[in-house]
Formats: sequence, structure tokens, C-alpha cells
Amino acid sequence: MKKIAILGSTGSIGTQTLEVVRNNGDIEITALAAGSNVERMEAQIREFRPKLAAMWTQEKAKELKMRVADLPVRIVSGMDGLLEVATEQESEILVTAIVGMIGIRPTIAAMEAGKDIALANKETLVTVGHIIMPLAKERGVRILPVDSEHSAIFQCLNGENRAQIKKILLTASGGPFRGRKREELKSVQVEDTLKHPNWSMGRKVTTDSATLVNKGLEMMEARWLFGVEPKDIQIVVQPKSIIHSMVEFVDGAVIAQLGTPDMKLPIQYALYYPERRYLPGERLDFWTLGQITFEKPDMESFPGLKLAFDAAAAGGTMPTVYNAANERAVAKFLARKIGFLDIPMIIGDCMAAHQVKSAPTVEEILDTEAAVYERIESRW
Ligand code: NDP
Repeated sequence: MKKIAILGSTGSIGTQTLEVVRNNGDIEITALAAGSNVERMEAQIREFRPKLAAMWTQEKAKELKMRVADLPVRIVSGMDGLLEVATEQESEILVTAIVGMIGIRPTIAAMEAGKDIALANKETLVTVGHIIMPLAKERGVRILPVDSEHSAIFQCLNGENRAQIKKILLTASGGPFRGRKREELKSVQVEDTLKHPNWSMGRKVTTDSATLVNKGLEMMEARWLFGVEPKDIQIVVQPKSIIHSMVEFVDGAVIAQLGTPDMKLPIQYALYYPERRYLPGERLDFWTLGQITFEKPDMESFPGLKLAFDAAAAGGTMPTVYNAANERAVAKFLARKIGFLDIPMIIGDCMAAHQVKSAPTVEEILDTEAAVYERIESRW
């Protein structure tokens, strides 16, 4: 039986991972971690019986402990708790379905303990990709992408020579505001932003999809995962999210991966790679689909995407500034403290004020994150 641990088990990717586990019946859950949803965590513990579970705050951990006092499960909390879950002795794979840069330290700890990583937490690769990728090589651990686009690229590269990649064609739905101009984006509300046309995801990543910052983060994620330069990653808007991404090779051949928009496919592929398993659900019907259309991304109305290419080009600590400024700005937008267009404005402001440090350590990355948060708190 395969043994896995999950960071962020109560979220969108976390619960879908557990659905895959439930459907297959041959994976053992050794440890789970979540932020604050005690009720959902209790239900998960009762169903999947992990030996270890973590809640972020001591208070939530205490509440959980009381709720599951009848079960043989140890409850931990805080960063130490996340690190314990990440390095749980018996697990072979850590699913990083936690949101934000908080995933950095547990992911590195799990790799150092020899665990393969099923990676959904894109913020980790964006900010410390230069540390994660060499570490994976050194420890002989696999980074298995969960993000649908990166899973698609990973599938397109199966059996191929990575040195023969010409470019990566990273597809984007364009989000709920595709086709709108800057002027029309001024007054969009949180409710409009959270209505993604194709995918059902957590609030932060759904907002990132609406600003196209998500595509910017994915571009930086792809550059580390597949060892390509940002200039060799082209964003292609494909509104129906049927093509999950493509790879062009040196001979001009383009290989694409297609499917219905269902995160369970990339999750299952990561958990069982290189095996493919039956997955219940809708199948693509090309007669109904009729056509697949393509567009150029509008970087003027959605400057968050352009800023991602600037951040990648600057390198070092700049992608961290991009990511941290976005994390904080999105939280403020979701709390209705700033407007939609303020998100890229704040990212741009923080980037303009930053002095890049090249080849930063984890400590320097976390210091950069803190400095960005401080700047944002003092201004907005
Ligand atoms: P959600 O917001 O739905 O879930 C986030 C999870 O992280 C929850 O379980 C939450 O716990 C947990 N969490 C948050 N803070 C902490 C903390 N301090 N300690 C422990 N756990 C914490 O996010 P998603 O599932 O949408 O996204 C997760 C990651 O996957 C992100 O990096 C996202 O970019 C990426 N991703 C998501 C996709 C999707 O389809 N959703 C697609 C591709 C990538 P709780 O709710 O209990 O507080």
C-alpha cells in the first residue's frame, strides 16, 4: 500500500486528493495538516485514520484533540506541526496542497527526509525553485506536478528528451474577465472575481486566475520544473480549458494534453505516476465540443501577467516580491479593503521598490516576504 501525507487536506486540492484516495482504496493516509477547519479535519480523521494530524493554531489543535479523543491519532500545531506531518516517517509522498509561502519549509524538510513531492503549492517553486530543484536531484526525490497545466506538460514530456523542447505553450482560460478592458475592471467585485468559468478552486487561486497572476506564477513554476527559460514559455488563452498545455519540440511537433477540467486527473496521475488508473467522470466529446479557440493574453488590461515576466527576468528575490505582494494584496481584496486593479498596482509598487538579491537563501526569501508585507501594511 502506498503511504501519503497531505498538507492542506481541508482545501480544494486536499479534499480532491482524498476523493482520489477513497476511489482507489489502496493508499494509506499517514498524516494530515490544515489551517482552521476543525470540523472537516475531524471527518477526515474518522474516515482515513491517519496517525498524525496538525492544525495551525494551538487553539484549533486543542479543539480537534477533544473531538477525536476516542481515536489513536496524535495532534500537533504550528510550524513544528507542519514539519512533523511533512516528514512523517512512513509516508512516501507528501502532497503540498497548502496555500502560500508557508509551504516552503515543510516541502524542503520532506525532500530532505527523502519524500517525493506531489506539488500543488506553486508558491514554493516560484520563490525557492532555485533551491528545490537542485535539492530534488541531490536527494533523488521526484517532484510530481499537480497543477493541471504542469501535469499536462509532464505528460507531454513522457518519454521525450527534455533537451529537445523548443517552447512550452502554457494554456490559460483567461478567467472570468476575459475580453474586458482596464476601464471595465475598475469596479469588479469579489463575487464576480470568484466565479471562474471552468474550474472550482480555492478563493486565492480563483482570484489569481481573474488577475492572470496565476498564469504568471505558473510560468515561473514551469520554468523550474522543466528547466526552460521564461522567454521560451508562451501563454496561450484557450477559453474552454480543454487543452491543459502543450509542448513544442525542436522539429516543430507540438504535443498537447487534453481532457475535461477535473483536478482529480492530475492529482491521480501524480500519486500513481507512471501508472494510469481508471478515473470515473465525464469524458471529452469532440462532437459536442465543436471547436477549440485560441487568443493572445491581454497584458495591458491584466498587467499582473506582464509583471510576472519582469519578476522572472530579474530573478533572485524578485519572484518572491511578486508572490508575497500578490498574496497580501489578494487577502486585502477578498476582505474588500482594496479594489481589483489595486492588486497588480501593489505588486508593481513593491517590485519597483525592491533591490534584487541573487541566489537567495530560504532565510533571505522569508525576510523578503516579511519586508514586502511590512511595506504593504504601512501603505494600504
Ligand atoms: P484552498 O484555499 O482551498 O485550501 C488551502 C488549504 O491550506 C486548506 O486546507 C487550509 O486549511 C490550508 N492552510 C492554509 N493555511 C494553513 C496553515 N497556516 N497551516 C496549515 N494549513 C493551512 O486552496 P487550494 O486547494 O485551491 O490551493 C492549494 C494550493 O494548490 C495553492 O498553492 C494553489 O495555488 C494550488 N493549486 C490549486 C488548484 C485548484 O484547483 N484549487 C489548481 C492548481 C494549483 P483550512 O481551510 O482548514 O484553514
